[in-house]
Amino acid sequence: MSAKRSGILFVMTGASGVGKDTIRQAALPDLDNLFFSISATTRARRPGEVHGKQYFFYDKAAFEALLREDALLEYAEYVGDYYGTPAAPVHEALASGQDVLLELELVGAREVKRRLPEAIMIFIAPPSLSELERRLRGRGTDSESRIQKRLARAREEIRAVKEFDYVVVNDTLSTAVRDFCSIIHAERARTKHLSARDIANFLREL
Ligand code: 5GP
Repeated sequence: MSAKRSGILFVMTGASGVGKDTIRQAALPDLDNLFFSISATTRARRPGEVHGKQYFFYDKAAFEALLREDALLEYAEYVGDYYGTPAAPVHEALASGQDVLLELELVGAREVKRRLPEAIMIFIAPPSLSELERRLRGRGTDSESRIQKRLARAREEIRAVKEFDYVVVNDTLSTAVRDFCSIIHAERARTKHLSARDIANFLREL
């Protein structure tokens, strides 16, 4: 057992448009000590997106340089673009005792689980595929062919739901946020995360 608690790695996966960002943002006030990893991507910025905030936006050559340098914990190709997780900030946060949240599509989520089997896998499901399609169209950021590709990926992801430790259905946002926060709090309360220092504290007055 280490003297210091190391961080817990949470992976959040779910179809594009299912509301992962919205759940995360609504949950943040209830979740201290959680480092959200900002991904690298080659996809075009949506209006209002800022480099270093939603993503680090790179061209293909710059992204491939990251791959060559082995700077990514995982990466995947999704609907014609690359997405990847910069490895160093994740490792640093975990080592310093901070919990980490990654938001990944399925291929990347599987890769993280393979490399870091302790990761806690959370699947965000839509109430139905037709509702997901309605949300994707409502967002108005993708062409019809990209919406169809995103829906095809969504079907694949939903089929993989049993690979995850938890599922949260994003029907009513407040309920989804409550469930998501409950998972994080419950995982944090597991005795296996007690450090030697925590145990010493419990035993001190016995
Ligand atoms: P979007 O284009 O809608 O922002 O993201 C498309 C998909 O890529 C979403 O499912 C999102 O969770 C996923 N994604 C975002 N960042 C990463 C990443 O670093 N790695 C992987 N594998 N998927 C990511």
